[in-house]
Formats: sequence, C-alpha cells, structure tokens
Amino acid sequence: MSAAPTGLDLDALVAIDVHVHVHADQHGHLALDDELNAAAAKYFKGDPYDPTVPDIAADYRDKKMAAVIFTVDAEAATGQPALSNEEIAQLAAEHPDVLIPFGSIDPHRGAAGIRAARRLVEEHGVRGFKFHPSLMDFLPNDRAVYPLYEELQSLGVPALFHTGQTGIGSGLPGGRGIKLRYSDPMLLDDVAADFPGLTVIMAHPSVPWQDSAIAVAQHKANVYIDLSGWSPKYFPPQLVRAANTLLKTKVLFGSDYPLLRPERWIKDFEALEIRDEVKPLIMKENAIRALGLRDA
Ligand SMILES: [Zn+2]
Repeated sequence: MSAAPTGLDLDALVAIDVHVHVHADQHGHLALDDELNAAAAKYFKGDPYDPTVPDIAADYRDKKMAAVIFTVDAEAATGQPALSNEEIAQLAAEHPDVLIPFGSIDPHRGAAGIRAARRLVEEHGVRGFKFHPSLMDFLPNDRAVYPLYEELQSLGVPALFHTGQTGIGSGLPGGRGIKLRYSDPMLLDDVAADFPGLTVIMAHPSVPWQDSAIAVAQHKANVYIDLSGWSPKYFPPQLVRAANTLLKTKVLFGSDYPLLRPERWIKDFEALEIRDEVKPLIMKENAIRALGLRDA
C-alpha cells in the first residue's frame, strides 16, 4: 500500500460516509451542467445545493463523521469541464481530520489519465478513484480501460463505481444519451476477477440488478457494496438480508451527499431490521478495511 498517513481519529468518528460529491469549486464552476443538475435535484426531490470542499468539511466535522469526497470527470461524454482533482485533494488536505479525497479520471483520457492517477496518489494524497460508467460513457469491462485499473491496483487504492439507475439525465429525452446498461454490476465481476488485488466498491443498491451485485460481492473477496443514493426505506429486502448475514463485512455506509443527506439516511436506516452487532461494521469498520485506513 502506498497510502499516506491520514489525520483521521478513527476511534472518535461515529461513521465514515464513503460517497460524498463535491458539486462546486472555489471559482463557481459546477461538476454538472445546469440541465443535468436540475434533473438530478428533481429526481432526488431536493433543492440544488452545491457544496464546496470547505462546506463539506464543516458539515461533516459537526456530525463527527469522515467523508470520502470526489467529483466525476465526465468531460469527454458531457462536455462539462471537470472540477480539478488536484484542487479537491489540496483542499481536503486542509481538513485531514474529516476528509478522504478520491480522484476521478475519465477513462477516455488514456495514457495521460493513467499518469494523472499516479500523480494524484503519490503527490496529492488521493486515496481512491470514483467512476460513473453511465455518465462517463464507458463499459467498465472494456479492455481499453484495463491499463488504468492495472495502475490503480499497483498503487493499492480502491475503485468506486456507480451502479444501477441514475438520477443524472432522468426524465430528459433519451436520458440525455446516458446508458444505464454500463452501470450493470455484473460488468464489474470481470474487473474484480481480472484484478484480484484491486478493491472494487459497487455504489448504491444496483436497481434493477440487485441480485447480481449481491452475487458479485459474495463471490469476490475484493468487492464491496456502498449503500448510498437510496433511502434505506427503499432497500430491496434481499439487500437488507445480505447486509445482516453473508455480506455483513462487505457493505458500507454512504449517503450520496448533497442529494441525499446522511441525517436522513441514518434515520431511515435505524428503522431497518439490521442487527446491533452489524451496525458498527456498516457505519465505520468495513470502510476502514476497504479503504485501508487502519494500516495507513
Ligand atoms: Zn455518486
């Protein structure tokens, strides 16, 4: 592991939220264009709120939680210039007690993207990478992306993939050209099989492929599921059952902030029948292991 030491006090934190979006930078640029941003806010029935890194740090410090933060670089597909990974990492470094920076590399960047990934980890303290195959418009098991995974595996950092339905493009003609199939978790089974040393986090209940996600996470030691993006109220019953039993060390708390806030997620999670001994695993311990925070 090349991971640098973190400033997190793991024992004092009540939870680690592994799925937090940076929507805006210090210069007023947004991660999504206005049309996609408005459609996503409508899908989540929320007001558009575009937190910057310092906003997120203040909010999570109040909650005594740590947050894995990232943007999504989908510039090749959407034309929207990506927020700067370097700037996000630099701002996160000013709040090492609460923020864990991930990067986002558009696979269409090819060799330049691979070099950028290494620099982000080695020089900017980035601890993992976020991918959104539907928004970025790539098949996650496409061999063309394998050199990038190879690099992440050798750097010892996890790759977090959006899976399932997405609010981005929702309700727009053609869903703005966004293809849901690219977020089928079964495509990640190939990635996990071909890169056994790469930790793969499948984000969200993978609607409509929940059973596939459970099968992959159960079969592959290097695969985790994050529970972000849906209120626990709407979790499919088989996901709740798996979280309580065979996947209790493989599922991670995540919100999808700012579109879904951790307060609401936790309130609805409390109403689920999750065993008391499993709750601390989901809220914190599994993330410590998946992200390699303890041995950092
Ligand atoms: Zn996300």
